[in-house]
Amino acid sequence: MGELVQRGETKFKLLRYFTIGSLVAFLFAASLLGYVFRRLAVDGLLSGYENEHINHARIIANEMWERDLTPLLRASGDKLATELQIDVVHNRVLTLLAGTKVFKIKVYGPDGKTVYSTELKQIGEDKSANAGVIAALQGHSSSELAHRDTFSAFEGEVQDRDLVETYVPRYNPDTGKVSGVFEIYSDATALVAEISRRQRVIVAAVVVLLSLLYAALWIMVKRAQDQIIEHNRQRNRAQHALALAEERWKFALEGSETGVWDHNLESGEIVYSKRYKEIFGYAEGEPVDSAKGWEDRVHPDDLQRVHADREDYLAGRTQTYANERRMRCRDGSWKWILSRGMVVARDAQGRPVRMIGTHADITERHEREEALRLASTVILTVDEAVMVCDLDEKIVSVNPAFTVITGFAESEVIGKTPRLLSSGVHGPEFYKAMWDQLGTEGSWNGELRNRRKNGKLYVEWLSIKLVRNDKDMPSHYVAVFSDISDRKADEERMQHLAHFDALTGLPNRALFSDRLHQAVAKARRDGTRMALMFLDLDKFKPVNDEHGHHIGDLLLKEVATRMLECVRRETDTVGRLGGDEFVVILSNIDKVQQATMVAEKIRHALNQRFELAGLELSISSCTGVAVYPEHGADANLLLKSADAAMYRAKEGGRNRVELAEESPSP
Ligand code: GH3
Ligand code: MG
Repeated sequence: MGELVQRGETKFKLLRYFTIGSLVAFLFAASLLGYVFRRLAVDGLLSGYENEHINHARIIANEMWERDLTPLLRASGDKLATELQIDVVHNRVLTLLAGTKVFKIKVYGPDGKTVYSTELKQIGEDKSANAGVIAALQGHSSSELAHRDTFSAFEGEVQDRDLVETYVPRYNPDTGKVSGVFEIYSDATALVAEISRRQRVIVAAVVVLLSLLYAALWIMVKRAQDQIIEHNRQRNRAQHALALAEERWKFALEGSETGVWDHNLESGEIVYSKRYKEIFGYAEGEPVDSAKGWEDRVHPDDLQRVHADREDYLAGRTQTYANERRMRCRDGSWKWILSRGMVVARDAQGRPVRMIGTHADITERHEREEALRLASTVILTVDEAVMVCDLDEKIVSVNPAFTVITGFAESEVIGKTPRLLSSGVHGPEFYKAMWDQLGTEGSWNGELRNRRKNGKLYVEWLSIKLVRNDKDMPSHYVAVFSDISDRKADEERMQHLAHFDALTGLPNRALFSDRLHQAVAKARRDGTRMALMFLDLDKFKPVNDEHGHHIGDLLLKEVATRMLECVRRETDTVGRLGGDEFVVILSNIDKVQQATMVAEKIRHALNQRFELAGLELSISSCTGVAVYPEHGADANLLLKSADAAMYRAKEGGRNRVELAEESPSP
């Protein structure tokens, strides 16, 4: 982080460039200003002063030329006259110049010879080669400022002075030609000092002003630079934070079960995470998409919806992009995928340019949901009633078959207990046994009689199972039952047909045989007597022949009724073996006579006139009576004895009761 900021700072050198650049610019500006100032001000001042000095020279020359210097010029060659004249001139000059700033005066003849000088020893020197003299002899005045370390003024030697040296030509009024040159030296030290003082003040002012300007600019640039550096630092910090955040979420996502895709919508390039490739069975470095792109891996049946969802999201019609679809794995198998995504970057026009999203493998969940959907469809459509109760035995849900069987709608039973179906047929011990088994084995199967909403009883085959949750704790009871009332009735009818005679309703041969065996066994066990009677109607066939089979049937039924009226129904049995043959078992009799008495009673009852379908009929019967143990030690022997006795009755003239012959004791 610090390194990043530092790199930004060192790269940015605005202040350094400004410092060097502006310093050079300011130095250049100061030099230019100095130069211009010098040209315009100092040089102007000096040349003004020099011109003025030329005028001074002329005034002095005018003052002295005619009276003092012309004679001196004329006297040249006459040594005495010259000396005399020099004395006069010298005295006059000294008087004239006393107290002025003029240091020296010199006069040259037309030949450039020094005619006069306040420094007398210079008189006679040839100055014809002197530039000032040459110019003046040609008619040009000149003036020049110069510094002298030592200078011999007429008042004596002077040191360290600035001097103005001026040459002016003098003309002969008659000829108009240059008659001589007047040279004058004046002290300009004070002036030069003043000029340089002003110069220094102005330079100082310029320097101060420029420095202030420079400082102001420097501060402005420094602030700008500080702001730019701070801005860069913040940007770097933000970029670094962003990079860190991106690294973190990438790390987090890589660790999760979710695969990540990063789609550049402009270039079409998609980057997939390691986990993404794992989901579809690709190795880390292996390319995922074929030339046809990611759409090629979406199941054709799902592709249209995927495109629609995507377009809705990109057009802003939906807030989120989420979509479930099948996608092909590397091995060609399909997986259910939950794809979610969002636009993370847009261009200047707001068009999406980058999307990032996740792919979660939801295949298992889909299969579970499918299985659940199937299961609930089954529950909704089966003919068996399904009832789910919580552990408090409160009904939680029922299926439509429940309503069909019981007549109760779902809303009428939710929250109630299954006891609302109770018929009262089963006692408390029945239910206790059921709950005990449920508690120990977790399930119960059995037949149950319950009551419908309309009050009618029905028989159900019920299976109850205790259901456990994923922590293996009991959570619900699920009861499945079917209405077996019809089957039950059929069964009972079959049962009846198997044991009872269809015409008279009396026990048939099979049931009678059973009961006979039981009765013999009981009598043997108890050491008591029981009797078996074998009865056959006399001349029954002619009834059929005369009145029809139908009347014969009615007669057989009436015979059965009369026989039943002659015995104790609870313990004795009247049965029909077939045709016009009937049997009677009298259990637990005291004496043999008791049996013949009942047989006589039956014979008598059957002798009474029958009125059947408007017909009056009379009939008689023959009965053979065998008693245990006297006439047979077991059921078969008893049967034989009774049968034989009955035949004897027939043979004996019919309409009679015959007791079996005593069998020899074993
Ligand atoms: P017998 O005095 O010797 O007993 O003569 P019978 O006429 O009674 O003749 P038998 O006992 O030998 O035969 C019984 C007859 O009963 C034969 C048959 O035609 C008739 N029969 C048998 N089963 C039925 C039946 O279920 N209904 C009717 N109506 N008649 C039956
Ligand atoms: Mg008969």
